[in-house]
Amino acid sequence: MPAQAACLRAGDHQRRVLKDVFGFDDFRPGQAAVIEALLAGRHVLAVMPTGAGKSLCYQVPALVKGGLTIVVSPLVALMQDQVAALRLAGVAADTINSSLDRDANVAAWRRVASGQTRLLYLAPERLMTERMLEALSRLDVSLIAIDEAHCISQWGPAFRREYEDLSRLRGLFADVPIIALTATADEATRADIEARLFAGRAETLVLGFDRPNIKLAMETKQDSKRQLLRFVERHPGKSGIIYCLSRRKTEEMAAFLEKNGVRALPYHAGMSKEAREANQNAFMSLSGVVMVATIAFGMGIDKPDVAYVFHTDLPGSLEAYYQEIGRAGRDGRPAEAHMLYGAGDIRTRRMFIDDEDTSPEHKRRAHRRLDTLIGYCETAQCRRQVLLGYFGEEAQACGNCDNCLDQAPRADGSAEARTILAAVAQTGERFGAAHVIDILLGHETEKVLARNHQKLTSFRTGIAHRKPVWLSLIRQLVAGGFLTPDADGHGGLAISESGRALGRGEVAFEYRVEGRDRLARGRKRAG
Ligand code: ADP
Ligand code: ZN
Repeated sequence: MPAQAACLRAGDHQRRVLKDVFGFDDFRPGQAAVIEALLAGRHVLAVMPTGAGKSLCYQVPALVKGGLTIVVSPLVALMQDQVAALRLAGVAADTINSSLDRDANVAAWRRVASGQTRLLYLAPERLMTERMLEALSRLDVSLIAIDEAHCISQWGPAFRREYEDLSRLRGLFADVPIIALTATADEATRADIEARLFAGRAETLVLGFDRPNIKLAMETKQDSKRQLLRFVERHPGKSGIIYCLSRRKTEEMAAFLEKNGVRALPYHAGMSKEAREANQNAFMSLSGVVMVATIAFGMGIDKPDVAYVFHTDLPGSLEAYYQEIGRAGRDGRPAEAHMLYGAGDIRTRRMFIDDEDTSPEHKRRAHRRLDTLIGYCETAQCRRQVLLGYFGEEAQACGNCDNCLDQAPRADGSAEARTILAAVAQTGERFGAAHVIDILLGHETEKVLARNHQKLTSFRTGIAHRKPVWLSLIRQLVAGGFLTPDADGHGGLAISESGRALGRGEVAFEYRVEGRDRLARGRKRAG
């Protein structure tokens, strides 16, 4: 078939560029599809995780197409790195930015204007000046790439006002395909990017999220220092990243590890630039250094042999978690993502959200994102299935997470689930977990008495278990979709269709037993 032959030929050209310029034999999952779409002239929203190889998705078509490709990137440091790497590969790349002196910028512009430059990296605010747009309109622009495209969305984790203006690009460069790249897969953010940059007319490709070599595991937080040390000691001589919520805690944990003979360095935004850079350099250049950091650490970090990422606290969202653990195992060797998980973290995160100076709508979304993360932590299913499912990728049970490896014992929790569902139903599906548990445990709190809930038949039906057991059961019911936190963001629980089926005894509920003895201890006390 002639069409197919043409297609193959086109594919050959891309492969040759991939091999000759970048030295790679094969495209990674996703890259080929993105490149095909761009070369066919379509706009693309590419959602790919950090490390999946987003840059090649526009660098290869830039070279295949010729002409000038404009790359919009938010950070000067990242632009400089990319330009340096491309030049090393023999590609004519330039950047014009505020950190360069005037002469350097003028020289760069001359190369661009004379048609030598293939890729020009610009910050959005520089690109969107009338002068720059006017000058570029006279050149042969063949492609526009917008990196970190989630910065355009108010729902995204990193909104930047300068990005908003980029929505004019599709009108200004009418026949030029635009690719927006992001690692943020949150549904609302994606829709927002599509609407703003493409007026909804782009091909969305979600690809390459699976990192099968990273083992996923979760542990109930008890004594985080001891738990951390035990974990680190299982990986002697390995580089690792430990994420902590606060600056103070990174210092504390690093000192604690040092005291126990581990080479550990802190990293957070409160340190001087010199100290931060020194620690980062040590981590990057030596092996066996453990970086104890806040989320300030990680942007653009590409160290292949990071053996693990350990979260001592709950991350900000499932996307953040995914990005953070993605810094492990880039060399493809077995790596671990390990998280400590405690109820206190959830309270802290809720408080953060409530205290933020944002709109109610913003808070509601943030609470929902947090619910999704909690669902991941609480699930008894294969974690990778849940994680990839969230990003829109289907997967088989992975055999490389704690649930698959069955470190978490399971029990039939159908009877307990029905007890909970009854209490939720009797209180009108309007109350949060704490109140429902008070009813189950027969606590005559003010709230209970004010609503006469001590008269319900559900009252005191749950004294066989302690509060943490009920809390965990409720969260797992939420994770399993049997209960839904209602839309107002206040955590009121409602019963879903499948929850009603469970209540009627039509389906069973398998429960992941946390801390092993909780359920048993609860039972003993009741007996
Ligand atoms: P991202 O921007 O998605 O975080 P990068 O574009 O920085 O990812 O790529 C991550 C790493 O993967 C880089 O070291 C890059 O050279 C490498 N890489 C990208 N594509 C391929 C490929 N097809 N084959 C082998 N290595 C690749
Ligand atoms: Zn699994």
